[in-house]
Amino acid sequence: MTTKEQVLKKYFGYTQFRKGQEILIDSILEGKDTFGVMPTGAGKSICYQVPALLLEGITLVISPLISLMKDQVQSLNQAGIHAAYLNSSLTTNQYYKALEYAKQGVYKIIYVAPERLLTGEFLSFAKSVTISMISIDEAHCISQWGQDFRPSYLKIIDFVKQLEKRPIISAFTATATKEVKDDIISILNLNNPTTLTTGFDRDNLFYSVQTVKDKFKIVEQYLEENPDKSGIIYCLTRKTVDEVYEKLLKKKIAVTKYHAGLSDRERKENQDAFIYDTAPIMVATNAFGMGIDKSNVRFVIHYNMPKNIESYYQEAGRAGRDGEASECILLYSPQDVVMNQFFIDHNNENNELEDEQLQLIKERDYERLKKMTYYCMTNECLRDYVLRYFGEYGSNYCGKCANCLTQFETIDVTDIARNIIGCVEQVRQRFGMTTIIDTVHGSNNSRIRQYQLTENKYYNTLSGVPIYRLRQIMNHLILQEYLTVTNDEYPVVKLTNESQRILYGEEILHMKVAKEQERVKEKKEKKAKKLLGVMNGDLFEILRKVRMEIAKEEHMPPYIIFSDKALKDMSAKMPMNRDEFLQVSGVGEVKCEKYGRRFMEVIIEYKDKEKK
Ligand code: ADP
Ligand code: ZN
Repeated sequence: MTTKEQVLKKYFGYTQFRKGQEILIDSILEGKDTFGVMPTGAGKSICYQVPALLLEGITLVISPLISLMKDQVQSLNQAGIHAAYLNSSLTTNQYYKALEYAKQGVYKIIYVAPERLLTGEFLSFAKSVTISMISIDEAHCISQWGQDFRPSYLKIIDFVKQLEKRPIISAFTATATKEVKDDIISILNLNNPTTLTTGFDRDNLFYSVQTVKDKFKIVEQYLEENPDKSGIIYCLTRKTVDEVYEKLLKKKIAVTKYHAGLSDRERKENQDAFIYDTAPIMVATNAFGMGIDKSNVRFVIHYNMPKNIESYYQEAGRAGRDGEASECILLYSPQDVVMNQFFIDHNNENNELEDEQLQLIKERDYERLKKMTYYCMTNECLRDYVLRYFGEYGSNYCGKCANCLTQFETIDVTDIARNIIGCVEQVRQRFGMTTIIDTVHGSNNSRIRQYQLTENKYYNTLSGVPIYRLRQIMNHLILQEYLTVTNDEYPVVKLTNESQRILYGEEILHMKVAKEQERVKEKKEKKAKKLLGVMNGDLFEILRKVRMEIAKEEHMPPYIIFSDKALKDMSAKMPMNRDEFLQVSGVGEVKCEKYGRRFMEVIIEYKDKEKK
């Protein structure tokens, strides 16, 4: 009998299951419903692909996106597994042919779009074969709480009901707030499922936030310092995408772009250029990326702050799916907040919803935006901040984000805090952050005059503290819940139960602030470089070229031939024969037969040169 370990090595070329994979796979093999919540890149696909190969009949994989299906099916076929997809990208002819093969039992794994499930042809096919498992990818699409609700996902339930024998159901997602998780289990009717949430941390990702005026300059510098790396630059609007794209093009950078304003054809061509590494830099709106699992994306730059942490984590998470060190950089400017507010106010996407529901969604969106903005402000560990958002507790200090690397110094801000809180109290909690800061700072603008804030007891008490520092401290007070901000269109600063403790001197308030900027920046950069590690040079580059040649010949994206990780392992192990080649992580039998010789030829050549 074949074991799951044998399948893993033979087809996928890996020797060990990752944390969590084994539990989920065993559960499926025992015939139980199974629910896996794992971050992007954790290896969810293997959790259903391995059991699919061991179970008797066919596994149907429900997936929301055409590009994702194509990618997965290509990968499977490359690995020697018979798989197909059924979606609207096929012509009628191709569709019937695929169904015909499917009936004959050619495919072990079939990817299908949810819209197809209840069509006559598909139902009759499904009833005529043995379906041992239905696997639902991106399962959060079934929940209205999630941010990608897709009504077509609700068809899954009816579909399952129509089958004579209920297959095992397994569901996977990377989004995991509690509401969404509960929804998935109850709507899909999972039967006492084995549920596993693996940690959300992606320890190969390095996070940083930069508040800058000239964002383009930062991007330009980064690309200069990191040539040959593939990455995504996310912008909030199509207009910004076009601008950044044009500017990069002028600098002769191999760049492409993606947004909903392009024609289907352009979108597809550009996406392919990115995937096939002919244009390794992608400038895009958030329309790009769902279902792209290009594994060698080395950085994701957010040119604007996205609308919430969920989106940020998902988009930034497209970096480093192969587990290699990668960077996630967010370029923040206050204007981003304003733009996002505008989008929330003008979001009429779901026009089936009642006013009341819309209002609720809006409030929730505002709340999410607030948390996102805090991320850009916080002095604390960025990784920790995100993990806390998803309900996990990190260690407060990861040592692998820009904040942790910046040397902090602790200053006593009690006195400043007392003045700020005092001012909030004095104005009877009626004003927003900017007005409070302007008051204590002693600004003289029309708003201050209009409300006669110059008469305020705290007016001008903190004129010696720079505005940015006041803002930092105020953010700190909000993060620490000494103050809170309402959720309205014009957010107002309010006191909390804790405010009095500062006001009446019961508590000393310390805060960590970044030390003198320049010196720290240098150190930070050095440290960051070290952490990111330098690839072991020449051979890796040579292997990349071979991979590119093969990719072109076979019309496949390079990473489907081998991931960066596999090439890196190859350049470290320098295999010289078949057995050694099979030891390389990511090399299965089929790929060893197909490509082994070509890679080993250049490795042998390289070794010879080295000796000389
Ligand atoms: P997800 O769907 O969770 O985002 P994927 O299934 O695309 O992640 O897997 C991410 C990467 O990790 C892929 O390149 C995959 O081949 C690799 N991978 C998955 N499982 C293992 C394993 N057990 N050992 C090594 N690499 C793995
Ligand atoms: Zn950190």
